[in-house]
Amino acid sequence: MKKLGLIGAGQLAYMICEAAKTWDVACICLDKSDAPAHRLCQDRIVGSTNDGTKYTELAKKSDVLTIEIEKIDLEALGDLNIIPNEQCLKILCNKYLQKEFLQENKIPSAPFFLVTSRSDLERNKDGSFVLKLASGGYDGRGVFTWPNSDLKDDFFHSQVYAEEKQEIAKELAMIVSRNAKGQIASFPATEMQMREDKQLDYLFSPAAIEETLNHQMQDICKNIVTKLNYQGVLAIEFFLTKSGELLVNEMAPRPHNSGHHTIEACESSQFDHVIASAFDWDLPSTKQNQAAAVLNLIGLSKEQCESLLEPEIRGAYLHYYHKAARPGRKVGHICFVAQRLEDAVENLKKVQERIKEYA
Ligand code: ADP
Repeated sequence: MKKLGLIGAGQLAYMICEAAKTWDVACICLDKSDAPAHRLCQDRIVGSTNDGTKYTELAKKSDVLTIEIEKIDLEALGDLNIIPNEQCLKILCNKYLQKEFLQENKIPSAPFFLVTSRSDLERNKDGSFVLKLASGGYDGRGVFTWPNSDLKDDFFHSQVYAEEKQEIAKELAMIVSRNAKGQIASFPATEMQMREDKQLDYLFSPAAIEETLNHQMQDICKNIVTKLNYQGVLAIEFFLTKSGELLVNEMAPRPHNSGHHTIEACESSQFDHVIASAFDWDLPSTKQNQAAAVLNLIGLSKEQCESLLEPEIRGAYLHYYHKAARPGRKVGHICFVAQRLEDAVENLKKVQERIKEYA
């Protein structure tokens, strides 16, 4: 039995552990004691995911080492082999370095510049920007509008860059994987349905886009993983602008929320691809057999999550992450599948109504 060492035991690791059962792979996870995947993995190391002193211990127990979280101590990896490799992680764990990589390789993304102080922005008075932290932000928490009177001077002590504000028509994502042999597979595109307040409402796949756009996204994904000599699963988020331009927004060197539906809707899941690519096995089919819509469950208790699925709602799959409920915390998701996307979305909306009763 092969052994996969995972830095991180969050919900992504939990779903990797679930997939590993069908591959005859054992998972060993490093994370704090209450992390979700510690319940499922075959062996565990308790500690912080950015405590580099634990990496050697994890590597000794594993055939292959990989990550499920970007919050790791890259310097501490030393000579240890990791998938994706250290060079890829250096770029992908820092959004500013991602932007430089995209620019150097002429891959379309919004124009940007590094910001070291307020005056860098004040000099560009005509521009309309969004400010982004190069690392540490997630789910919109590292993104700020400009001008912004709430930002204190010490904000600019972190690595920050400004990006030209785009008129976004659609937010899209694609999951791609590549093994060491150079095989590449991508899943059909996902669309993020945003609310009026620009927060995520739900996700659905296949995205409501022309086939040519899907191909354009696939080509960009292939280009990126090839240029990076990437091994593993990579999630790529895109903007389709109102003028029809396809821009790469950001990338994550791991499975992603926009690929959760692949568990139920596709012939293999993004988590199967973590395993296949890590061991350089053939990448399984990414064919999507059903339409899917995914609703994230935020701040709900286990009982509340479990009470959401009425028996009359067909094709609904609850994934509870075994995390204590806190306001704003993602504690699970429900994937709704159906032959027609409208049916999956209709069921999702019924559950959204039930959630409102808990508010
Ligand atoms: P995070 O990794 O925290 O999700 P993103 O870079 O994806 O950060 O930004 C969060 C959201 O902010 C995006 O989903 C999008 O709605 C908005 N946004 C980000 N960059 C831009 C931009 N250049 N122009 C307009 N809106 C943007």
